[in-house]
Amino acid sequence: MNFFIKTFGCIQNTADSERIKTFYWNEGFIETDDWKKSDLVIINTCIIRESAENRVYGLINEIDKWNIKNNKHIKIIVTGCLAGLAHKDKTGKKLSQLKRDFPAVSEFLPIEKISFEIEPLRGKSEIALIPISFGCSNFCSYCIVPFAKGPEISRKIEAILNDIDKAIKDDFKQVMLIGQNVNSYGNDFTEATLVSMGKKRFKSLFPKLLEEVAKKDLEKISFVSSNPWDFSDELIETIAKNSNIDRLLHLPFQAGDDDVLKNMNRGYTSKEYLELVEKIRSKIPDVRFSTDIIIGFPGEDEKAFENTVELCKKAKFEIAYINKYSPRKGTVSAKLYKDEIPMKEKKRRWIILNDLINKK
Ligand code: SF4
Repeated sequence: MNFFIKTFGCIQNTADSERIKTFYWNEGFIETDDWKKSDLVIINTCIIRESAENRVYGLINEIDKWNIKNNKHIKIIVTGCLAGLAHKDKTGKKLSQLKRDFPAVSEFLPIEKISFEIEPLRGKSEIALIPISFGCSNFCSYCIVPFAKGPEISRKIEAILNDIDKAIKDDFKQVMLIGQNVNSYGNDFTEATLVSMGKKRFKSLFPKLLEEVAKKDLEKISFVSSNPWDFSDELIETIAKNSNIDRLLHLPFQAGDDDVLKNMNRGYTSKEYLELVEKIRSKIPDVRFSTDIIIGFPGEDEKAFENTVELCKKAKFEIAYINKYSPRKGTVSAKLYKDEIPMKEKKRRWIILNDLINKK
């Protein structure tokens, strides 16, 4: 029996697909790189944008049509965010709707059913991806992830270190710790509450975890994604004193205007973000930053966009992943705000920021 896996979306999905592959290898399946030669297609989905979701539906329909035309019975399993969102809808309507719309899909499988403790098949990559947490409890107003993946759940520190030891045994010299909000790792284990940048937080165990990982025989340790409100002084100290922790830090800011940030439910102001960048620079002189930006969020008038441009000039990012806002059904921003900025204007703003950061 052959299986084919198609992975959409973020690095978390890439890591999940590595575990899914192992699961099917262990069941006696062989991986193929052509879905037409497979008996089973697994689609690991991303629904962060409507266009990504539509690509998933397109692939399901293509396989279905091909099955009918060629009298084949390739089985389709859908996992990832689409399956997660359907299963987390307590009314059951989303799952029933999907089953009605896509009868060719045998199962909408929540990714949690594939255990974290399966040893992943890492292929030819030079970097071992190590999931440290799953889900997100932040509820940024534009984001579907907390609804699709549920609240943040951290893996046990021993299990993570064990994964890293295995990767080292397999000759990996680089690891990337991954999660939707890596620097809040362990929030769900700890009790003490504190408030950071307008968000009520629990004490993060991420610096402790990072300290342990840095003691291992590794040349480079990186992590994504971290968030400003969880970037503690303890974390900065930990990075500063361990030279094998990557100096390129990914620190999404999303917008440089305080009203827009508030409507995004990001919690911090542009001033607080810049102060954090400066603090990190003062402790880690060779640090570089990459970031995520959303342009054209509702309420981003010309002045608000200029504030974003100004922040970029001051922060001096090395790389920026710039996304044009599109409302995602089921999110708070899609319910509350009108997507009022024309696509032409979003494209213009995208070019300005891309020229400023990525083309310099
Ligand atoms: S931190 Fe915000 S943007 Fe990132 S996954 Fe969580 S809710 Fe989404």
